[in-house]
Amino acid sequence: MSHVIIVGSGIAGLTAALRAANEHDVTIITKDALGDGNTAQAQGGIAGVLFGDDSIEAHVADTLAAGAGLCDEDAVRILCSEGPQRIRDLAAAGVDFDTEAGSYAKGREAAHSYPRVVHAGGDATGRAIARTLAQRVRERRIPVLENSLLIDLVTENDTVIGVDVLTPHRPIRMLAQTTMIATGGCGQLYARTTNPAGATGDGVAAALRAGAQVADAEFYQFHPTTLADSGFLVSEAVRGAGAVLLDETGHRFMLDIDPRAELAPRNVVALALARTMAAQNDRPVLLDATRVPRLTERFPTITAAVMHTGIDWTRDPVPVTPAAHYWMGGIATDQVGRTKIDGLVAIGEAACTGVHGGNRLASNSLLEGAVFAERAAAALPRGAAHMHPSLSPIDDHVTAPALDRGELQRLAWSALGLERNERHLTSALARIDEWDSAATPIPLSRAALENRNLLLIARIVARQALARRESRGAHARLDYPKADPTQARSVVAAPVQEALAC
Ligand SMILES: Cc1cc2nc3c(=O)[nH]c(=O)nc-3n(C[C@H](O)[C@H](O)[C@H](O)COP(=O)(O)OP(=O)(O)OC[C@H]3O[C@@H](n4cnc5c(N)ncnc54)[C@H](O)[C@@H]3O)c2cc1C
Repeated sequence: MSHVIIVGSGIAGLTAALRAANEHDVTIITKDALGDGNTAQAQGGIAGVLFGDDSIEAHVADTLAAGAGLCDEDAVRILCSEGPQRIRDLAAAGVDFDTEAGSYAKGREAAHSYPRVVHAGGDATGRAIARTLAQRVRERRIPVLENSLLIDLVTENDTVIGVDVLTPHRPIRMLAQTTMIATGGCGQLYARTTNPAGATGDGVAAALRAGAQVADAEFYQFHPTTLADSGFLVSEAVRGAGAVLLDETGHRFMLDIDPRAELAPRNVVALALARTMAAQNDRPVLLDATRVPRLTERFPTITAAVMHTGIDWTRDPVPVTPAAHYWMGGIATDQVGRTKIDGLVAIGEAACTGVHGGNRLASNSLLEGAVFAERAAAALPRGAAHMHPSLSPIDDHVTAPALDRGELQRLAWSALGLERNERHLTSALARIDEWDSAATPIPLSRAALENRNLLLIARIVARQALARRESRGAHARLDYPKADPTQARSVVAAPVQEALAC
């Protein structure tokens, strides 16, 4: 039995904890309450081949097509073939997936050739998963440190041997044979995002500082439809059910852009929204769901959020804008979550397994969290290593930039957002340099740690986006509007020391 620390408690962290606890001594460290994170926000559902007239090959083909030539096909095959069993495991754990006529209710989402997305509570799939798995973790009495955030990974001889953590009381150090990073995405880098406040890329930034590799950092997926006022996501499933997008004159503009109209891939729809908004002085476009049958019954969570804005969407269209949603990039791993650094494993949105390539297929991310967390936990080394660490004491200060987070988020939105170009990326990097060079040691706090991490992720995204001189998947360059076949490969970010030196 070895000690395993899992940082994060979304679908990836919780799945790994439940599997690993069969054979290991597991501790979960999580920033907010157990189960908080992007997972709990997920609406549309989880994709998987569960119906006789669907096929693994079709799911693989859809995933590869969305990934724009950058997917790792072996990883995609693992995702699609092991996914159905992981969905059945979730159901067996108590996730109450919606049914119709005695079988799972089918949901259709963009770029899926088959309606293979299953959901729970209508549009509350993530909440059902997070609550159920968190409950199972509590029942198993797996130790959990809530409201505690990873400061940094502790390394010795190029091996991760534990973590420094800021608990509500004080910073502490915990040692383990394996540390699993399951800290999710980094939507808070952007002025508009669907992600909750804790999505600041902490685990990826800590892994970079420890010398891990990050791949595909430039690929951020922007969701086309979020409520204009709140960033609350209006799931693709609503468009799948028949809602259409209108400009402010009432014209259904997606018909002019792609034969798949509102169900074209996310990057196509998001970009069309951004351009339509630009042509109407940045005013939001309209999502007309008034003709969707049983709208309020099928989408109760979104209905409540829309109602909160004072709109009855059964009668009137809703103003929507794109927002940063899902980070395809992350800590580069093999097919069982191992990174280049001994003792460090990464899973879920914080990892880059290669299944999403340049653009994630809708509802494949919960699936990735479940599939690769299970595999990573099953592959954990058995037997306790003997550690004789010679450790320096934990610093109660951190060298962090005096950052106006709002300014960074606006900069990221305009320069690292839906459309990029060399001039804006270069000037964004210059501003990032200024912030970095003005960093000073300040007392440890959540805000200071998050700002340091956001700035590092901004640098990596900007550098990788500058290096990719083409448009591919979710990465759109105004100055290189076409895909370049010679660039059809994943790029691994330089180790952080090198990146900072440039
Ligand atoms: C609004 C919304 C809707 C979505 N809808 C869908 C959908 O329908 N289908 C789909 O497949 N995907 C969907 N996604 C994407 C999907 O939810 C995520 O990709 C997935 O849940 C990520 O799971 P995870 O376990 O990797 O990370 P998360 O669920 O984000 O969990 C990360 C965990 O790490 C913790 N953490 C972060 N930093 C630290 C730190 N420094 N120290 C300690 N803990 C830390 C967080 O508190 C959290 O517990 C949606 C995302 C959003 C935001």
